[in-house]
Amino acid sequence: MTDENFFDIIDSLKDIIDSEKSGPRATAPTDTDAYLLPFLYEISALLTTGTTDVREALETVLDVALKVTRATRGFIILFDEQRKFDVQIARNNKQLNLDPSEFAVSRSVINKALAERKAIFIPNVHDDLVIKNAASVIDLELLSAMCVPLQFHVPKGLPGRKERRRFQDQVSGDALGVVYVDSNQTINPLREEDLYFFEALANHATAAIINARLYHQATTDPLSKLYTRRQFEILLHENIRRSEQSGTPLSLLMVDIDHFKRVNDNFGHPVGDEVIRQVSEIMRGCVRSADVCSRYGGEEFAVLLLDTDATGGQVLAEKIRRTVQTHRFEDSRLKATISLGVATCPVHTTDERELVKKSDQALYRAKEGGRNRVEVWNEHIGEAAQRTDKLAGIITGDFARDYRNVTMVLDTIKAVNSTMEVDHLLVMTLDKIIEATGAERGAILLVHDADRSLRPAVARDRHGTTLDETAKFSASIPRQVASTGVSVSVVDTLEDGETEYQSSILDLNLRQVMCVPLPVRDEVIGVIYVDSRTVSNEMAASNLLFFEALARQVAFAIENFRIHAQLEYERGRKASE
Ligand code: GH3
Ligand code: MG
Ligand code: MG
Repeated sequence: MTDENFFDIIDSLKDIIDSEKSGPRATAPTDTDAYLLPFLYEISALLTTGTTDVREALETVLDVALKVTRATRGFIILFDEQRKFDVQIARNNKQLNLDPSEFAVSRSVINKALAERKAIFIPNVHDDLVIKNAASVIDLELLSAMCVPLQFHVPKGLPGRKERRRFQDQVSGDALGVVYVDSNQTINPLREEDLYFFEALANHATAAIINARLYHQATTDPLSKLYTRRQFEILLHENIRRSEQSGTPLSLLMVDIDHFKRVNDNFGHPVGDEVIRQVSEIMRGCVRSADVCSRYGGEEFAVLLLDTDATGGQVLAEKIRRTVQTHRFEDSRLKATISLGVATCPVHTTDERELVKKSDQALYRAKEGGRNRVEVWNEHIGEAAQRTDKLAGIITGDFARDYRNVTMVLDTIKAVNSTMEVDHLLVMTLDKIIEATGAERGAILLVHDADRSLRPAVARDRHGTTLDETAKFSASIPRQVASTGVSVSVVDTLEDGETEYQSSILDLNLRQVMCVPLPVRDEVIGVIYVDSRTVSNEMAASNLLFFEALARQVAFAIENFRIHAQLEYERGRKASE
């Protein structure tokens, strides 16, 4: 695509967005529009699939932003854990990365955008009394700048209960960072009319970043930074299939820290955590980058060695064992040893469950044999070694809930990225939420453009049966969530006499209702709602944040389907002409 061509496309694209902003268009779509829609669609498609390579997606966002705004330099800056600025991507208008020596940006412009929580445009820094005197502006010889906070726009809620306000703060809370462009050009200055498109791009970037973070969270154990057990199972499945196709072997090590209870008892839990962290680091340091290291349980690990036979597996297991044994901890009283079991595909089995079972049996034998040693599976180990339930107490006190929530996020992200059927996505999400909450029924209600009314797009019960139009749900709660953008969780309404949602709930005999918004930019396009006539622990307010995260994924997907549908419509219209 040539540059000129690009600007034509961008200009018309902006017209479309502008007209959508001010309501439905009076005129019929033009040929140029049809030409543009794929472009807009591709940007969002790129971003939704950007779960693995978010960097590339963000570079594209920034390159497009630079072209649209005609700025000379652009930055995507995220906050690190200490809330310090961390420049993720810095590009010039020639699509090249900037050298870190050129990373100077106007902090005053960024701070202003963050303080006002909205996109800002500074046409001429010399007109802004505060900004014009900032050292950064003078040093950089800046003329104009634009900056948008990266944040989800949840409309400000009505003042409500303390609990609800707390959630509001967390959801629409602090920005993740900013997208910033600036220019020192007098010939092609930045223009205010580009601000809206710039902001739209920033919103896509926010969704991509959140997607990537959720994906990372869902696949990585926070303490050890290794893959979670769930992710290990997915990778095990994939790699066994690959090994079968290519005929190469695959070895699995099950690893358990010896007498770990004593570490906790003698030094305390935080020191125990530190030992887990360092043992994890050692394991990662011993294997190749393509190998899979995961935290299988509390102080148990599973290591998948690609293209490695039983002998190779044993050698590597020995190397890890020795490295842990000789590792010096900061506290010289601390020592750790590990036991390891090895099983190999295909010589011991080609079944993934059997492979886990057999390396676990070998591990058990290593423990029995005195610990701090490696055992490779053989027939004699077999059935004699049966260990107790491994799911007990894994990772947190409430492992079952963690595991299930993480699984749901993963499945939803996957579905968002792979299905082209919005109905299917809605049904799947709803069924999972009903299952996870232990609710009796649920519905996804969408706001209809025509009259702003909320109507069920899908309604299901806990048995996966679709409910018809006669099903009655609370009317006031979804309406409130849609209009305020603030989630609601009501428990035990029969005893709690002063609930404000009484009438609609009492009629339906409900004891619990949970409802979260589907936000897209600063609009709520619908809600996800579940209810129950009995009380379930899982419908607790502590799960709300999690469902809100899930709802954002779904909202983002619905938005993409909408763009896609419009594209199809345009194609169809052109074809029939
Ligand atoms: P063995 O040699 O037979 O493996 O003895 P062990 O003491 O390691 O026995 P076991 O595997 O039964 O106990 C593991 C202990 O690890 C139990 C649990 O309290 C502790 N643990 C599990 N997860 C964590 C964690 O995340 N942090 C800390 N500090 N301790 C954990
Ligand atoms: Mg142990
Ligand atoms: Mg253990």
